[in-house]
Amino acid sequence: MSLERAAELVATAQHGLALTGAGVSAESGIPTFRGEGGLWTKYDPVKVSSIESFLADPTSYWSVSKDRGRVALAARPNPGHMALAAMEAAGYLVAIVTQNTDGLHQDAGSKRVIELHGSGRMVRCLECGRLEARSEVQTRLEVEMPPRCLTCGSAFLKPTVILFGEPMPAAAMHDALELAGQADVMLVVGSSLVVHPAAEVPLVAVRAGARMIVINAEPTPFDRFAEVVIHGRSGEVLPQIVALIGA
Ligand code: NAD
Ligand code: ZN
Repeated sequence: MSLERAAELVATAQHGLALTGAGVSAESGIPTFRGEGGLWTKYDPVKVSSIESFLADPTSYWSVSKDRGRVALAARPNPGHMALAAMEAAGYLVAIVTQNTDGLHQDAGSKRVIELHGSGRMVRCLECGRLEARSEVQTRLEVEMPPRCLTCGSAFLKPTVILFGEPMPAAAMHDALELAGQADVMLVVGSSLVVHPAAEVPLVAVRAGARMIVINAEPTPFDRFAEVVIHGRSGEVLPQIVALIGA
């Protein structure tokens, strides 16, 4: 059984690493980009999520982001997030590298979370650098569109997420690849593994000798490199693995 094999493998980890994608938060009610019901079946990603279109038209950006923000701010960690936090607490994971910007791993109690695509919990003024909580800006969206900086009045307030056309955060990428090179067990959860360079992380790990487990609702391009592949929902699969290990 693949669940037992996954549990056996995680239990051997001295330097386990997890990579998570939008799928891990789907059961918290946050829509994924790709896959069934994914947002990009509704929007053109480059139009909605590129720095170019943000700068050209912050109002359009915020009108989409307003609804997504409301959902993400109300979301709570699901049993999949909790299971990953339990694995870290029990010493089977050294860190989680995530493509998510929702902050739910931290809410679940995970200590070392490397955010490759930034965080949606904060908003930065591109003119003066003022940082503000997304929850504060979210309240203003009801009366002001686009929202303006409270210090300098600029209309270019951008969530601290990485949009298409922006560089990856260098320190996060460096840490993620370094941990991947040292990993003995690589757990990949809820990622379509088509967004690069995030998808390099498991490749580096496998090349360096890590044994890989892939848990995803549907097949991924890296399934063939994995020792264990489980096609299922992370909020159901991960707690079962934790229960088998006894973590
Ligand atoms: P993705 O949307 O490209 O792929 C999600 C994958 O998860 C799909 O393959 C889907 O089949 C799978 N999935 C859906 N529900 C699942 C479940 N319950 N259990 C397990 N797997 C499930 O996501 P990605 O690979 O992370 O890349 C997309 C980009 O979107 C990322 O760069 C990220 O920054 C951003 N994003 C973030 C959030 C978030 O923060 N929660 C949400 C949407 C998109
Ligand atoms: Zn400002």
